[in-house]
Amino acid sequence: MTALPVTNRDTLPNLYDLSLAEMERLLTDWGQPTYRARQVFRQLYVNLADTPLAMTDLPLALRERLANETRLAPVTPEQVQTADNGLTRKALFRLPNGALVESVLMIYPDRATVCVSTQAGCAMGCVFCATGTLGLLRNLSPGEIVAQVVWAAREMRRLAGRPPTPTTRQPEDDAWWSPDDLENDAPSVPEVSSVSHVTNIVFMGMGEPFATYDRWWRAVEIIHDPRGLNIGARSMTVSTVGLVPGIRQLATETLPINLAISLHAPDDDLRSALMPINRRYPLAVLLDATRDYLAATGRRVSFEYVLLQGKNDEPEHAAKLAALLRGEAGPAGLPLHLVHVNLIPWNPVPGMPLGRSERRRVLTFQRILRERGIACTVRVERGEAIAAACGQLAGGVAC
Ligand code: SAH
Ligand code: SF4
Repeated sequence: MTALPVTNRDTLPNLYDLSLAEMERLLTDWGQPTYRARQVFRQLYVNLADTPLAMTDLPLALRERLANETRLAPVTPEQVQTADNGLTRKALFRLPNGALVESVLMIYPDRATVCVSTQAGCAMGCVFCATGTLGLLRNLSPGEIVAQVVWAAREMRRLAGRPPTPTTRQPEDDAWWSPDDLENDAPSVPEVSSVSHVTNIVFMGMGEPFATYDRWWRAVEIIHDPRGLNIGARSMTVSTVGLVPGIRQLATETLPINLAISLHAPDDDLRSALMPINRRYPLAVLLDATRDYLAATGRRVSFEYVLLQGKNDEPEHAAKLAALLRGEAGPAGLPLHLVHVNLIPWNPVPGMPLGRSERRRVLTFQRILRERGIACTVRVERGEAIAAACGQLAGGVAC
């Protein structure tokens, strides 16, 4: 990555960083009436204006002052790649100083989900993850997180006029799965979508949200604000590698954001080998925090489990995982009606000496969990062809 110089404009306040209350403070400091802030907020998040100059309900002098003394960043992706007949769209943003981050918009017949990054790179070093190989380049500001959702909202608005047309499914899509035996998120190409806006957000892009909790949470509040993007808390899901302080903090928040926890192994030895963070927060500690979270919120938690051929996908791993969650393996169990396991066949990352579990093994793993009373689905990925699937995001620019 080439580090770019930070220009003077990069030091101006980023409007996407500001909550409505902060916007009011900025504009009243400028001698404006408070209602102006609502107008700007509406322009940013309802009209999706990409420059203050387009905010034509504001006086010209204010538009010009905003254009000169603030910025909106990032607005234009350096690159957008599409797959799945245009229903998966990956944007690559270059941030001041040159760091690259990616966001993925996945359009389904009845919803549109954007997968958002919270950091450029990631410090956690999980051995199966492309982002982990980068190390942490930097945390994103709240506005840099919000801007990814605004990009997706613009894409949805632009596409609403001309939805992607159905085509027949590519033969290679059939090679691995079929919607008949994998239940949940199978991308039913051919498909068209009736949605015209972003309906769901998953904080599952590059980075670990709980390693930058406060910035991430400020972004959540801006995205949630009913006077702006107005995305409901229950339509947002955050995924964590298992940072226990973040899980405990989330349990105290008033907005009911959904929680997903990356588990990936049923015992400490294997989990530590795959995810170094397990040495800091081993399974007993992680499950303790999860139990407290469930008791405090009453909301369902999903455990993500990436299936790596021959590493963590044997029937005995499935049985051990069930025993762990049921409390038959030491630490007390979890209330199973609030637990869901999401199996994710590993998405290949070039150069990693790992393999994706065969379909037969995935289905056996799922069956064993279900037989033991654990709700379990298999997540079928979007966007593998453009390295937009889970864990493939590494800011690679296609030539
Ligand atoms: N840092 C957070 C969120 C981003 S990763 C976390 O780790 O939970 C989102 C999900 O993708 C996690 O469950 C992660 O373990 C998984 N993942 C990472 N690399 C993957 C890969 N190559 N294939 C499939 N899933 C992967
Ligand atoms: Fe970071 Fe999540 Fe990748 Fe682990 S899986 S390296 S926590 S982004």
